[in-house]
Amino acid sequence: MKNSLLQTPIEYLKGIGPQRGQLIRKHLGIHNFNDLLHHFPFRYIDRSRIYKVKDISEQSQYVQLVGRIHHISVVGEKRNKRLTARFSDDTGSIELIWFQSVDWILKNLRPNEYYLIFGKPQRFKNSFSIPHPELELFSDRSPSSLQGKGLQPVYSSTETLRKQYLDTKGIQKLVQQLIEQLTEKDLPEFLPEKLIQSQNLIKRFDAFKNIHFPANETLLQQARQRLKFEELFLLQLKFLIQKNLRQKRSQGIVFPAIGKFFNTFYEHHLPFQLTGAQKRVLKEIRRDTLSGRQMNRLLQGDVGSGKTIVAFLAMLMAIDNGYQACLVAPTEILARQHYETISAMAAPLGIYVALLTGSTRPAERKMILSNLRNGAFHIAVGTHAILEDKVIFKNLGLAVIDEQHRFGVAQRAKIWQKNIQTPHVLVMTATPIPRTLAMTIYGDLDVSVLDELPPGRKPVKTVHRIEADRERVFNFIKREIANGRQAYIVYPVIEENEESDLRSLMEGYEAVTRWFPLPDYAVSIIHGRLHPADKEYEMQRFVRGETDIMVATTVIEVGVNVPNASVMVIENAERFGLAQLHQLRGRVGRGAEQSYCILMTKDKLSSTAQMRINAMCRTNDGFVIAEQDLKLRGPGELEGTRQSGDIALKLADLAQDSDLVFAANKEAKNLLEQDPELELPENLMLRNYLLSLADQSPWAKIS
Ligand code: ADP
Ligand code: MG
Repeated sequence: MKNSLLQTPIEYLKGIGPQRGQLIRKHLGIHNFNDLLHHFPFRYIDRSRIYKVKDISEQSQYVQLVGRIHHISVVGEKRNKRLTARFSDDTGSIELIWFQSVDWILKNLRPNEYYLIFGKPQRFKNSFSIPHPELELFSDRSPSSLQGKGLQPVYSSTETLRKQYLDTKGIQKLVQQLIEQLTEKDLPEFLPEKLIQSQNLIKRFDAFKNIHFPANETLLQQARQRLKFEELFLLQLKFLIQKNLRQKRSQGIVFPAIGKFFNTFYEHHLPFQLTGAQKRVLKEIRRDTLSGRQMNRLLQGDVGSGKTIVAFLAMLMAIDNGYQACLVAPTEILARQHYETISAMAAPLGIYVALLTGSTRPAERKMILSNLRNGAFHIAVGTHAILEDKVIFKNLGLAVIDEQHRFGVAQRAKIWQKNIQTPHVLVMTATPIPRTLAMTIYGDLDVSVLDELPPGRKPVKTVHRIEADRERVFNFIKREIANGRQAYIVYPVIEENEESDLRSLMEGYEAVTRWFPLPDYAVSIIHGRLHPADKEYEMQRFVRGETDIMVATTVIEVGVNVPNASVMVIENAERFGLAQLHQLRGRVGRGAEQSYCILMTKDKLSSTAQMRINAMCRTNDGFVIAEQDLKLRGPGELEGTRQSGDIALKLADLAQDSDLVFAANKEAKNLLEQDPELELPENLMLRNYLLSLADQSPWAKIS
């Protein structure tokens, strides 16, 4: 059902031609008419409204005023020459100013006549002025013609395009031309009538017209609402269809028995009482693995909420039923740590655990591979190395992926192929993500939440400090070390091969060793450029308490567990995102002692950096932090979503449109429950539309 008009290459739109067409393709990613139609304005200017001078404030965008111009004067010479004038209405006056075409404007300005002016006020010291306003003699127009102007779209453009007359006005003209050519046939309605009714949506054709050229504010809102809903609904539909397909294709492995391993561990070796949340999630996993459908579950839990033990107990369910399990971690350090925790818990049960990473020696690797293939090893813990094709399991029943945000969908898909029967998959996030985001990027997963921390944890105390406090901070660390504690000092090496970052890390390290000299203190250092074996060696020294301070980059960000560490100093904290700060803070507060997180920043912070620091000082709750992060940065920038590429929302905003996300999810579920294959006549248009999306279609490819 490809619409031929909308598929027309952009060059063929009147007034574009090959040369400008190339530019538009390159700079705006617009290749055909349909792309141009989807190049939405990012802002509108209201030209139907007339403001008063007294309404102008710091927040004012473009304003339109009616009044008289007087006190015209030219000041300065040559390049500094400018024209100024006062502009007054019945509420006050403001300065108008021109830096260009001064002579021409001077000649044409008519003092004391009424003008309609339009421009963006700027604040200079204590007063406002409008540079280069658009002017129109008010007597030339009838008041009614003002209404027709309505909201004007503003489009994004680039410097190069502007030189080719493709500024916002130029693009506006192109879009206008395109829309004039279109009829309802080109943009047929595909949402079922019932849905349109229940969501109170306007028609697709009207929505496109009004999002570009809104007749009024109400229609603009309705157009945005309609197109946002459509965007979110199609995404949810796609996820749910894929999920249905996958469940139909792959019979889920059933774990009928809770057997010897699980019961023995639960009754005799459980190191602590499980929290209510841990028990609830285990029940959810149990239900999934009994259902006959393949489990794809996302386990969300704040740092320290105890995800590992949940994963281990789920593995025991698999092993009790004759299956193997694996746990994949994003880094070597983490894999090793998981290996130690899990093999310690598994030892009394007589369960064999293998560690498989990039640095496993060939001979050992060979031995491990053969034991995984013949089923002698029940559990494999490791890095991506586990996902390689050469790693073959006898019968993998459960795969656990820790710290999901470093894994793409493609990697998850590799796991689905690790057994003839698709294994159950449990993915665990490092940091909570807001529900709307989870529904949008992991929409094909069911979600479990560990919303309860194990008892007895003291919340980490978080403070903000600046360079002037350095001595105080280091003396504080000395006191903690004197009490037998350890400290982390983290530097922002964003790119491990960024020389300047590495230099600041090394300088920091030297400063730390001067403050904490041998033989009284021992300092470790870890960064991404170290050889894995050296990293491991330094890590182990810190774990064993042989060093007091760990100077590190964010390689220690996730998962590292040294309960004796009680201080986390984050240098240049303003350079980190909220999720990362929270994750780093999660490295302390893991023991019974009071722990501290010290955010060091430069003196003057941008307002968003200040908000991040404030949020950190205010709350320890990862779910609150995640919501805040989404608000401050927008979903595209959120940790872990950048590389996912799944989320290309043009209009909807996951922070602001959460109601719409939930509504779209609910409607998509309802629709598929009643008509899983979209075969009912009323859903036919929708089915055809999805099919027409080619490689975007949910039926095109199951990744
Ligand atoms: P995360 O969810 O961050 O991966 P972990 O699984 O590493 O958390 O658990 C953090 C710490 O809390 C570990 O030392 C673990 O042994 C401990 N822990 C987990 N669950 C409980 C519980 N129910 N009671 C007491 N301690 C627990
Ligand atoms: Mg963990």
